[in-house]
Amino acid sequence: MLLFEKVLMRADEAMTDADLLFMNQALALARAAGEAGEVPVGAVLVHQGTVAGRGANRPIADRDPTAHAEILALRAAARQLGNYRLPGCTLYVTLEPCIMCAGAIVHARIERLVYGAPDPKTGAAGSVFDIFASGKVNHIVKVEGGLLAQESAELLRAFFRDRRVAN
Ligand SMILES: [Zn+2]
Repeated sequence: MLLFEKVLMRADEAMTDADLLFMNQALALARAAGEAGEVPVGAVLVHQGTVAGRGANRPIADRDPTAHAEILALRAAARQLGNYRLPGCTLYVTLEPCIMCAGAIVHARIERLVYGAPDPKTGAAGSVFDIFASGKVNHIVKVEGGLLAQESAELLRAFFRDRRVAN
């Protein structure tokens, strides 16, 4: 847990009004995913202060194991900006990315990743793995975690609690 505390402190220090605004948009997408029966995770990709791509988790609806919020936001932004690489962009996501999404973030050359809640089961930005700090990937991403982490974690908790009750 020490690592999380360190990460959380960094996020608080670096947090701006714009960061809050975009993370709130990602949270709205997460909420919509949850209402559609998907694990509630949302992502917003920002280029020069403007949203270039959005994603809400939908692997069940799409029958696609890669349809994570981050992947969908990266795809939408790459189409929007007409480039398979997204330098200078910030990706906001409500939950710490998994290994697949961390890899895609590196491939896309994202400049900065801001995530909400840590994911102690599959997180690849420090919780289980730390792809970004491995020193073996060919692109450095600035990573900040913990922004609106409580809100994001509460959405996830409520989702899994309701699902348990339903089953
Ligand atoms: Zn993922």
